[in-house]
Amino acid sequence: MLTLDSKLPAVGTTIFSVMSALAAEHGALNLSQGFPDYAVDPKLIGLVERYLGAGTNQYAPMTGVAVLRERIQEKFQRVHGLLVDAEQEITVTAGGTEAIFTTIAALIRPGDEVISFEPAYDCYAPAVTLFGGTMRPVRLVAPEFAVDWDYVKSLITPRTRLIIVNNPNNPACRVFSMADIAALAEMVQNHNIFVLSDEVYEHLVFDDIQPQTLLRHPLLRERTFVVGSFGKLLHATGWKVGYCVAAPALMAEFRKVHQFNVFSVHTPTQYAIADYLADASHYENLGRFFQQKRDFLLAGLHDSRFRVYVPQGTYFIVLDYSAISSAPENEFVRELVIQHRLATIPLAAFYHDGFSQQCVRVCFAKQQETLQQAVELLCAV
Ligand code: PMP
Repeated sequence: MLTLDSKLPAVGTTIFSVMSALAAEHGALNLSQGFPDYAVDPKLIGLVERYLGAGTNQYAPMTGVAVLRERIQEKFQRVHGLLVDAEQEITVTAGGTEAIFTTIAALIRPGDEVISFEPAYDCYAPAVTLFGGTMRPVRLVAPEFAVDWDYVKSLITPRTRLIIVNNPNNPACRVFSMADIAALAEMVQNHNIFVLSDEVYEHLVFDDIQPQTLLRHPLLRERTFVVGSFGKLLHATGWKVGYCVAAPALMAEFRKVHQFNVFSVHTPTQYAIADYLADASHYENLGRFFQQKRDFLLAGLHDSRFRVYVPQGTYFIVLDYSAISSAPENEFVRELVIQHRLATIPLAAFYHDGFSQQCVRVCFAKQQETLQQAVELLCAV
Protein backbone atom coordinates (compact mmCIF):
# COMPACT_ATOMS: atom_id res chain seq x y z
CA MET A 1 0.00 0.00 0.00
CA LEU A 2 1.48 3.33 -1.08
CA THR A 3 1.42 5.97 1.63
CA LEU A 4 2.96 9.39 1.61
CA ASP A 5 3.62 10.35 5.19
CA SER A 6 3.57 14.16 4.92
CA LYS A 7 6.65 15.99 6.16
CA LEU A 8 4.46 19.08 6.55
CA PRO A 9 1.11 17.76 7.80
CA ALA A 10 0.07 21.11 9.28
CA VAL A 11 0.60 23.09 6.07
CA GLY A 12 -2.47 23.94 3.99
CA THR A 13 -3.27 26.58 1.38
CA THR A 14 -1.79 29.90 2.45
CA ILE A 15 -4.11 32.65 3.66
CA PHE A 16 -2.85 34.80 0.76
CA SER A 17 -4.31 32.39 -1.81
CA VAL A 18 -7.50 32.01 0.24
CA MET A 19 -8.08 35.77 0.49
CA SER A 20 -7.19 36.45 -3.14
CA ALA A 21 -9.67 33.76 -4.26
CA LEU A 22 -12.36 35.18 -1.96
CA ALA A 23 -11.64 38.69 -3.29
CA ALA A 24 -12.05 37.47 -6.89
CA GLU A 25 -15.29 35.63 -6.02
CA HIS A 26 -16.85 38.74 -4.50
CA GLY A 27 -15.34 41.35 -6.81
CA ALA A 28 -13.51 42.89 -3.85
CA LEU A 29 -10.58 45.30 -3.88
CA ASN A 30 -7.61 43.08 -3.09
CA LEU A 31 -5.26 44.63 -0.55
CA SER A 32 -4.40 41.28 0.97
CA GLN A 33 -1.35 40.02 -0.89
CA GLY A 34 1.77 42.20 -0.97
CA PHE A 35 2.34 43.23 -4.57
CA PRO A 36 2.17 46.47 -6.54
CA ASP A 37 -0.76 47.07 -8.93
CA TYR A 38 1.17 49.62 -10.99
CA ALA A 39 3.65 49.11 -13.82
CA VAL A 40 7.34 48.30 -13.50
CA ASP A 41 9.59 51.13 -14.80
CA PRO A 42 9.58 50.82 -18.64
CA LYS A 43 13.31 51.49 -18.59
CA LEU A 44 13.85 48.29 -16.61
CA ILE A 45 11.50 46.33 -18.89
CA GLY A 46 13.49 47.66 -21.86
CA LEU A 47 16.72 46.42 -20.30
CA VAL A 48 15.33 42.91 -19.78
CA GLU A 49 14.15 42.89 -23.41
CA ARG A 50 17.55 44.07 -24.55
CA TYR A 51 19.38 41.30 -22.69
CA LEU A 52 16.87 38.68 -23.86
CA GLY A 53 17.73 39.72 -27.41
CA ALA A 54 21.45 40.00 -26.80
CA GLY A 55 22.08 36.29 -26.40
CA THR A 56 22.51 36.16 -22.63
CA ASN A 57 20.15 33.22 -22.42
CA GLN A 58 22.28 30.39 -21.05
CA TYR A 59 23.14 29.42 -17.46
CA ALA A 60 24.45 32.24 -15.33
CA PRO A 61 27.33 31.47 -12.95
CA MET A 62 26.09 29.57 -9.90
CA THR A 63 26.78 32.56 -7.63
CA GLY A 64 25.08 35.12 -9.91
CA VAL A 65 26.45 37.25 -12.76
CA ALA A 66 29.53 39.15 -11.60
CA VAL A 67 28.23 42.59 -12.53
CA LEU A 68 25.09 42.12 -10.42
CA ARG A 69 27.10 40.90 -7.42
CA GLU A 70 29.27 44.01 -7.85
CA ARG A 71 26.17 46.22 -7.83
CA ILE A 72 24.97 44.58 -4.61
CA GLN A 73 28.44 45.18 -3.17
CA GLU A 74 28.21 48.86 -4.20
CA LYS A 75 24.78 49.13 -2.62
CA PHE A 76 26.12 47.85 0.72
CA GLN A 77 28.99 50.31 0.52
CA ARG A 78 26.82 53.25 -0.44
CA VAL A 79 23.90 52.61 1.91
CA HIS A 80 25.68 51.11 4.91
CA GLY A 81 29.32 52.09 4.47
CA LEU A 82 30.08 48.38 4.62
CA LEU A 83 32.49 46.44 2.45
CA VAL A 84 31.25 43.00 1.45
CA ASP A 85 33.17 40.78 -0.96
CA ALA A 86 31.32 40.27 -4.26
CA GLU A 87 33.22 37.04 -4.99
CA GLN A 88 32.95 35.31 -1.65
CA GLU A 89 30.08 36.87 0.25
CA ILE A 90 27.22 37.47 -2.21
CA THR A 91 24.99 34.96 -4.02
CA VAL A 92 22.08 35.84 -6.31
CA THR A 93 19.02 33.71 -5.50
CA ALA A 94 15.56 32.86 -6.83
CA GLY A 95 13.93 35.56 -4.69
CA GLY A 96 14.26 36.21 -1.01
CA THR A 97 12.33 32.98 -0.45
CA GLU A 98 15.09 30.80 -1.88
CA ALA A 99 17.70 32.67 0.15
CA ILE A 100 15.71 31.98 3.32
CA PHE A 101 15.14 28.31 2.47
CA THR A 102 18.76 27.74 1.50
CA THR A 103 20.07 29.34 4.70
CA ILE A 104 17.80 27.14 6.81
CA ALA A 105 18.70 24.04 4.77
CA ALA A 106 22.41 24.75 5.20
CA LEU A 107 22.13 25.17 8.98
CA ILE A 108 19.36 23.10 10.49
CA ARG A 109 19.64 19.49 11.57
CA PRO A 110 17.10 17.32 13.43
CA GLY A 111 16.83 18.47 17.02
CA ASP A 112 18.02 22.04 16.37
CA GLU A 113 15.97 24.88 17.79
CA VAL A 114 15.19 28.10 15.96
CA ILE A 115 13.99 31.26 17.66
CA SER A 116 11.74 33.54 15.63
CA PHE A 117 9.49 36.50 16.32
CA GLU A 118 5.78 36.47 15.59
CA PRO A 119 3.97 37.90 13.71
CA ALA A 120 6.28 36.23 11.19
CA TYR A 121 6.37 35.83 7.43
CA ASP A 122 5.05 32.40 6.59
CA CYS A 123 7.97 30.64 4.89
CA TYR A 124 10.32 30.34 7.88
CA ALA A 125 8.63 27.65 9.97
CA PRO A 126 7.91 25.07 7.21
CA ALA A 127 11.56 25.13 6.10
CA VAL A 128 12.77 24.60 9.67
CA THR A 129 10.28 21.73 10.09
CA LEU A 130 11.41 20.08 6.83
CA PHE A 131 14.96 19.84 8.13
CA GLY A 132 13.91 18.47 11.51
CA GLY A 133 14.24 21.67 13.52
CA THR A 134 11.84 23.01 16.12
CA MET A 135 10.53 26.57 16.14
CA ARG A 136 10.64 28.58 19.38
CA PRO A 137 8.40 31.52 18.47
CA VAL A 138 8.37 34.71 20.53
CA ARG A 139 5.01 36.43 20.46
CA LEU A 140 5.08 40.19 19.85
CA VAL A 141 1.87 42.09 20.45
CA ALA A 142 0.32 45.16 18.77
CA PRO A 143 0.70 48.09 18.73
CA GLU A 144 4.38 48.23 19.76
CA PHE A 145 5.39 44.65 18.90
CA ALA A 146 8.25 45.26 21.35
CA VAL A 147 10.80 42.50 22.03
CA ASP A 148 11.49 41.42 25.60
CA TRP A 149 15.12 40.41 25.09
CA ASP A 150 15.40 38.87 28.56
CA TYR A 151 12.62 36.49 27.59
CA VAL A 152 14.33 35.71 24.28
CA LYS A 153 17.53 35.00 26.19
CA SER A 154 15.65 32.58 28.43
CA LEU A 155 14.77 30.50 25.35
CA ILE A 156 18.40 29.84 24.44
CA THR A 157 19.51 26.24 25.01
CA PRO A 158 22.53 24.26 23.80
CA ARG A 159 20.33 23.18 20.87
CA THR A 160 19.59 26.77 19.69
CA ARG A 161 21.15 27.04 16.25
CA LEU A 162 19.50 30.01 14.57
CA ILE A 163 17.57 33.20 15.30
CA ILE A 164 15.40 34.55 12.49
CA VAL A 165 14.63 38.25 12.39
CA ASN A 166 12.71 40.27 9.83
CA ASN A 167 13.65 43.92 9.89
CA PRO A 168 11.62 45.95 8.89
CA ASN A 169 9.00 43.44 9.93
CA ASN A 170 6.15 42.21 7.79
CA PRO A 171 3.41 42.48 9.08
CA ALA A 172 4.21 44.41 12.30
CA CYS A 173 5.67 47.23 10.16
CA ARG A 174 8.20 47.98 12.93
CA VAL A 175 11.93 48.58 12.67
CA PHE A 176 14.50 47.46 15.24
CA SER A 177 16.03 50.19 17.38
CA MET A 178 19.79 50.31 17.93
CA ALA A 179 19.08 48.93 21.42
CA ASP A 180 17.27 45.92 19.90
CA ILE A 181 20.22 45.17 17.64
CA ALA A 182 22.68 45.58 20.51
CA ALA A 183 20.60 43.23 22.68
CA LEU A 184 20.50 40.61 19.93
CA ALA A 185 24.25 40.84 19.38
CA GLU A 186 25.02 40.64 23.07
CA MET A 187 22.74 37.62 23.45
CA VAL A 188 24.35 35.49 20.74
CA GLN A 189 27.97 36.52 21.05
CA ASN A 190 29.15 33.64 23.21
CA HIS A 191 27.02 30.98 21.57
CA ASN A 192 27.23 28.92 18.41
CA ILE A 193 24.10 30.61 17.11
CA PHE A 194 23.59 32.05 13.63
CA VAL A 195 21.25 34.83 12.59
CA LEU A 196 19.03 34.94 9.51
CA SER A 197 18.15 38.57 8.89
CA ASP A 198 15.32 38.94 6.38
CA GLU A 199 15.89 42.50 5.15
CA VAL A 200 13.71 42.44 2.04
CA TYR A 201 12.01 45.71 3.12
CA GLU A 202 15.33 47.38 3.94
CA HIS A 203 14.66 50.51 1.85
CA LEU A 204 10.98 50.83 2.69
CA VAL A 205 11.47 52.90 5.84
CA PHE A 206 9.79 56.17 6.70
CA ASP A 207 10.19 59.49 8.46
CA ASP A 208 13.73 59.77 9.78
CA ILE A 209 14.54 56.06 9.79
CA GLN A 210 17.52 55.01 7.71
CA PRO A 211 17.95 51.59 6.06
CA GLN A 212 19.84 49.22 8.37
CA THR A 213 21.55 45.89 8.06
CA LEU A 214 22.56 43.58 10.89
CA LEU A 215 25.84 43.01 9.04
CA ARG A 216 26.99 46.42 10.20
CA HIS A 217 27.16 45.26 13.78
CA PRO A 218 30.66 43.86 14.41
CA LEU A 219 29.37 40.99 16.57
CA LEU A 220 26.75 40.03 14.01
CA ARG A 221 28.94 40.41 10.91
CA GLU A 222 30.48 36.93 11.19
CA ARG A 223 27.28 35.02 11.98
CA THR A 224 24.47 36.67 10.00
CA PHE A 225 22.93 35.69 6.66
CA VAL A 226 21.22 38.75 5.17
CA VAL A 227 18.39 38.22 2.69
CA GLY A 228 17.36 40.79 0.05
CA SER A 229 14.71 40.82 -2.69
CA PHE A 230 14.67 42.66 -6.01
CA GLY A 231 10.95 41.95 -6.12
CA LYS A 232 10.51 44.59 -3.41
CA LEU A 233 13.24 46.88 -4.67
CA LEU A 234 12.02 47.04 -8.28
CA HIS A 235 8.23 46.68 -7.81
CA ALA A 236 8.45 43.34 -9.64
CA THR A 237 7.49 40.58 -7.23
CA GLY A 238 6.92 38.13 -10.09
CA TRP A 239 10.55 38.08 -11.16
CA LYS A 240 11.73 36.24 -8.06
CA VAL A 241 15.30 37.48 -8.00
CA GLY A 242 16.96 38.14 -4.66
CA TYR A 243 20.25 37.65 -2.90
CA CYS A 244 22.00 36.47 0.22
CA VAL A 245 25.03 38.12 1.83
CA ALA A 246 27.11 36.42 4.52
CA ALA A 247 30.70 35.98 5.66
CA PRO A 248 32.82 33.69 3.41
CA ALA A 249 32.66 30.56 5.61
CA LEU A 250 28.88 30.87 5.90
CA MET A 251 28.42 31.67 2.22
CA ALA A 252 30.48 28.60 1.24
CA GLU A 253 27.93 26.36 3.01
CA PHE A 254 25.01 28.37 1.60
CA ARG A 255 26.32 27.83 -1.93
CA LYS A 256 26.61 24.06 -1.44
CA VAL A 257 22.82 23.97 -1.02
CA HIS A 258 22.00 26.64 -3.62
CA GLN A 259 24.16 24.82 -6.19
CA PHE A 260 22.10 21.65 -6.07
CA ASN A 261 18.73 23.25 -5.58
CA VAL A 262 18.42 26.21 -7.95
CA PHE A 263 21.99 26.36 -9.31
CA SER A 264 21.54 29.70 -11.07
CA VAL A 265 19.00 32.44 -11.67
CA HIS A 266 17.44 33.87 -14.87
CA THR A 267 20.40 35.35 -16.73
CA PRO A 268 18.97 38.30 -18.75
CA THR A 269 17.09 39.60 -15.72
CA GLN A 270 20.29 39.64 -13.69
CA TYR A 271 22.10 41.73 -16.32
CA ALA A 272 19.14 44.08 -16.63
CA ILE A 273 18.92 44.62 -12.86
CA ALA A 274 22.66 45.26 -12.72
CA ASP A 275 22.40 48.00 -15.38
CA TYR A 276 19.35 49.52 -13.76
CA LEU A 277 20.93 49.70 -10.30
CA ALA A 278 23.83 51.73 -11.69
CA ASP A 279 21.43 54.57 -10.88
CA ALA A 280 21.21 54.32 -7.08
CA SER A 281 18.24 56.69 -6.97
CA HIS A 282 16.08 53.71 -7.93
CA TYR A 283 16.48 52.32 -4.43
CA GLU A 284 17.38 55.47 -2.56
CA ASN A 285 13.98 57.03 -3.38
CA LEU A 286 11.93 54.00 -2.38
CA GLY A 287 11.29 55.19 1.17
CA ARG A 288 9.94 58.52 -0.09
CA PHE A 289 7.87 56.83 -2.79
CA PHE A 290 6.10 54.56 -0.31
CA GLN A 291 5.87 57.17 2.43
CA GLN A 292 3.60 59.26 0.16
CA LYS A 293 1.30 56.28 -0.16
CA ARG A 294 1.43 55.58 3.57
CA ASP A 295 0.68 59.22 4.40
CA PHE A 296 -2.23 59.32 1.97
CA LEU A 297 -3.77 56.32 3.75
CA LEU A 298 -3.06 57.73 7.21
CA ALA A 299 -4.77 61.01 6.31
CA GLY A 300 -7.67 59.25 4.59
CA LEU A 301 -8.31 56.89 7.50
CA HIS A 302 -8.13 59.59 10.14
CA ASP A 303 -11.91 59.73 10.43
CA SER A 304 -12.51 55.99 9.98
CA ARG A 305 -13.49 53.74 12.86
CA PHE A 306 -10.23 51.79 12.56
CA ARG A 307 -7.33 52.49 14.86
CA VAL A 308 -4.35 52.83 12.56
CA TYR A 309 -0.86 51.82 13.69
CA VAL A 310 1.58 54.11 11.93
CA PRO A 311 4.06 51.89 10.03
CA GLN A 312 7.77 52.60 10.41
CA GLY A 313 8.54 50.44 7.38
CA THR A 314 7.33 47.90 4.73
CA TYR A 315 4.39 48.56 2.39
CA PHE A 316 1.81 47.32 4.84
CA ILE A 317 -0.31 48.95 7.51
CA VAL A 318 -2.00 47.35 10.51
CA LEU A 319 -5.58 48.39 11.30
CA ASP A 320 -7.17 47.62 14.67
CA TYR A 321 -10.92 47.06 14.35
CA SER A 322 -11.80 46.62 18.03
CA ALA A 323 -14.06 49.70 17.92
CA ILE A 324 -16.04 48.14 15.06
CA SER A 325 -16.46 44.46 15.85
CA SER A 326 -15.70 41.85 18.46
CA ALA A 327 -15.45 39.11 15.82
CA PRO A 328 -12.21 37.15 15.69
CA GLU A 329 -9.90 38.15 12.85
CA ASN A 330 -10.71 35.19 10.58
CA GLU A 331 -14.40 36.07 10.68
CA PHE A 332 -13.90 39.81 10.38
CA VAL A 333 -11.81 39.54 7.20
CA ARG A 334 -14.55 37.45 5.58
CA GLU A 335 -17.14 40.07 6.54
CA LEU A 336 -14.91 42.79 5.07
CA VAL A 337 -14.80 40.96 1.74
CA ILE A 338 -18.45 39.93 1.56
CA GLN A 339 -20.09 43.06 2.99
CA HIS A 340 -17.56 45.77 2.16
CA ARG A 341 -15.76 44.39 -0.92
CA LEU A 342 -12.31 44.71 0.56
CA ALA A 343 -9.76 41.90 1.03
CA THR A 344 -7.21 42.12 3.86
CA ILE A 345 -5.17 39.59 5.84
CA PRO A 346 -5.89 38.68 9.46
CA LEU A 347 -2.81 39.28 11.59
CA ALA A 348 -3.56 35.92 13.23
CA ALA A 349 -2.25 34.26 10.05
CA PHE A 350 1.25 35.29 11.09
CA TYR A 351 1.12 33.57 14.50
CA HIS A 352 1.61 29.78 14.72
CA ASP A 353 -1.24 29.51 17.24
CA GLY A 354 -3.63 31.86 15.40
CA PHE A 355 -3.33 34.53 18.14
CA SER A 356 -6.09 37.04 17.36
CA GLN A 357 -5.89 40.67 18.49
CA GLN A 358 -8.51 42.28 16.26
CA CYS A 359 -6.04 43.51 13.67
CA VAL A 360 -5.84 43.18 9.90
CA ARG A 361 -3.02 43.91 7.47
CA VAL A 362 -3.52 46.06 4.38
CA CYS A 363 -1.00 46.41 1.52
CA PHE A 364 -0.48 49.96 0.23
CA ALA A 365 1.86 49.21 -2.68
CA LYS A 366 -0.96 50.42 -4.89
CA GLN A 367 -1.64 53.17 -7.41
CA GLN A 368 -3.37 56.33 -6.22
CA GLU A 369 -6.75 55.30 -7.63
CA THR A 370 -6.69 52.02 -5.68
CA LEU A 371 -5.68 53.79 -2.47
CA GLN A 372 -8.51 56.30 -2.92
CA GLN A 373 -10.95 53.41 -3.32
CA ALA A 374 -9.44 51.69 -0.27
CA VAL A 375 -9.97 54.82 1.84
CA GLU A 376 -13.60 55.08 0.73
CA LEU A 377 -14.29 51.42 1.48
CA LEU A 378 -12.53 51.49 4.87
CA CYS A 379 -14.23 54.70 5.96
CA ALA A 380 -17.60 53.10 5.21
CA VAL A 381 -16.96 50.17 7.58
N1 PMP B 1 10.43 37.93 3.43
C1 PMP B 1 9.36 38.72 3.65
C2 PMP B 1 9.19 39.32 4.98
C3 PMP B 1 8.43 38.96 2.63
O1 PMP B 1 7.37 39.74 2.87
C4 PMP B 1 8.64 38.36 1.36
C5 PMP B 1 7.70 38.59 0.20
N2 PMP B 1 6.39 38.81 0.52
C6 PMP B 1 9.76 37.55 1.18
C7 PMP B 1 10.63 37.36 2.23
C8 PMP B 1 10.00 36.83 -0.11
O2 PMP B 1 10.64 37.59 -1.07
P1 PMP B 1 10.63 37.12 -2.59
O3 PMP B 1 9.30 37.48 -3.17
O4 PMP B 1 11.78 37.86 -3.20
O5 PMP B 1 10.86 35.63 -2.60
